[in-house]
Amino acid sequence: MRFGVHMPLKGGFEQNILRLKGFGCETVQIFPGNPTGWKMGAAEPKELAKRADFLEEQSIHPLVVHSAYLINLASASEDFYAKSKSLLKATMEKALLYRSPFVVLHTGNHGGLGVERGLERIGETIAAELPGWPAPVKLLLENTAGGGTALGSRFEELARIIKNFPPGALGVCLDTAHAWAAGYDLGGEKGVAETLEQFDRIIGLEHLQLLHLNDSRVRRGSRADRHEHIGRGAIGFDGFKALLTRPWPVGFPAILETPEIGSDWDRANLETLQSLVD
Ligand SMILES: [Zn+2]
Ligand SMILES: [Zn+2]
Repeated sequence: MRFGVHMPLKGGFEQNILRLKGFGCETVQIFPGNPTGWKMGAAEPKELAKRADFLEEQSIHPLVVHSAYLINLASASEDFYAKSKSLLKATMEKALLYRSPFVVLHTGNHGGLGVERGLERIGETIAAELPGWPAPVKLLLENTAGGGTALGSRFEELARIIKNFPPGALGVCLDTAHAWAAGYDLGGEKGVAETLEQFDRIIGLEHLQLLHLNDSRVRRGSRADRHEHIGRGAIGFDGFKALLTRPWPVGFPAILETPEIGSDWDRANLETLQSLVD
């Protein structure tokens, strides 16, 4: 596996990469702009090419781009829906400039439309938008904690969207804290084996392209999205050890989104991951 962290852009791109590389980080995730706003800022192709070159020089790959939280492809508001489509397209284009293979998207919120109609709307929207996105960049649907009207907390819901597309057109990012909050047991060997078996049966493990490694502050099934440092939450060391020591494909990327990103906790959590697989 290749372990990495979600990297803040504050303080400089190259400086942050060198800081993370200093303790063994091999892959990173970034927000391409403000994660809680509609504005992304200019794409600056020259600057992004320079960053992509630097990542290659430093052997940091893949670079994962996480899209803004406001994007909701199931939105019933025409204004929100139009903004969501255009920001996601701009995110895919920016990811191309970064030479990133993956854009992560939270599946969406049905906002009262109902689960069925919400999933349909997301599937229809992706089908309409996908031909306009740069082909080398793949959209990964991230499983959600399932609070409110969030879609995509159940593997069945992710499968409903993905199965409408040719194999390989879309992928999945599995977030451990979200899966735990949605009720999936990742707390030890038995739970991890059962959860991945379910993932394989319902979605297909070949669609799994990325792990988000986060412990959880909440009780399993509580549907709240509260990340915790690795081993210090309800999933615990045994759960992460069971997950990470499975036979993952060589170079499979796994990224931390633990609290206090950008602090010394990055190193502590990454070293914990490394100690669990050694
Ligand atoms: Zn996410
Ligand atoms: Zn995540």
